[in-house]
Amino acid sequence: MLYFISMEKVRIGVIGVGSLGVHHARIYSRLDGVELVGVCDINVKKANQIARKYRTQAFTRYKDLFGKVNGVSIVTPTNTHAEVGKAFLEQGVHILVEKPITKTLEDADELLKKARDKNLIIQVGHVERFNAGIRAIKSIINKPVFIECHRLSLFKKRSLDIGVVLDLMIHDIDIILDLVNSKVVKMDALGVKILTLHEDLANVRLQFENGTISNITASRVANKTMRKIRIFQEDAYISLDYEKQEAYIYRKAGSKITRKKIRIKKEESLLSELKAFVDCVKNNEKPLVSGEEAREALRMALEITKQINP
Ligand code: NAD
Repeated sequence: MLYFISMEKVRIGVIGVGSLGVHHARIYSRLDGVELVGVCDINVKKANQIARKYRTQAFTRYKDLFGKVNGVSIVTPTNTHAEVGKAFLEQGVHILVEKPITKTLEDADELLKKARDKNLIIQVGHVERFNAGIRAIKSIINKPVFIECHRLSLFKKRSLDIGVVLDLMIHDIDIILDLVNSKVVKMDALGVKILTLHEDLANVRLQFENGTISNITASRVANKTMRKIRIFQEDAYISLDYEKQEAYIYRKAGSKITRKKIRIKKEESLLSELKAFVDCVKNNEKPLVSGEEAREALRMALEITKQINP
């Protein structure tokens, strides 16, 4: 088979090939216009195994990718995002860092400053923003009165160094902040520790300055998975299942309520996210989920966590 390595290919590396990083590697390895230069993991076995699978080079020290890449996905544990992110920005490399952006706001601020100073892209892995379902309903959403979210998952032994707010609820916080675009003026949160040292179940009611109310529930000890958002506004009720990428709109027609399926062109959300990152790097564009927005989602998630564990 003949193929050409174009000079315009974006050279990408993946740092951390654990449960999520392997999917970054899989997608980049098949993406047009991308050369997956290498994968890096401090676990040499994992690095070698994934490199072999996706026909790329294995590294165990991320510094060995300096000078070889234009962009990296940082998919290491959250407490390493700041160190790894800063190191690549310092080298002039654009970064896609998984969510939450960092563990603390101070770390997020340092990362954002470094990206600004170096004029580099920092995109954050709030993957639901790329969900084809949310993209399809966004244009219909107009002054929501009430938003309800449920994100329930089975218990898995991962991300146990953080609670469910920073682990799962932060996805919905980011989505809601984007949809409502107003300041939170009141918050009532509660959380319960069940199987870990942090809250495994949490609920928050947010009241926004523009009057919108939102109620978010997240659990990582549920007996089924559910990822749903329901939006109530004056002229319609919209419900979306993130997992199935299925949405319906309900409207009042005289004394009846009509239901219509919303047309959605389904696509793996992570694929959309990585394609968007590569496009931003190629064309030097502002990412859909910027570092500043991810910092705001982190700030809100930390406030909710503080209210749960005073
Ligand atoms: P994981 O523990 O399965 O994988 C992390 C990997 O990073 C491990 O293989 C580890 O050996 C490696 N690693 C640790 N330090 C490293 C370093 N300095 N250099 C290179 N490799 C290093 O974790 P995960 O579940 O894949 O989560 C990774 C990140 O992705 C976390 O920040 C998590 O919050 C985030 N995440 C996001 C989503 C999402 O929906 N966007 C889902 C899951 C996880």
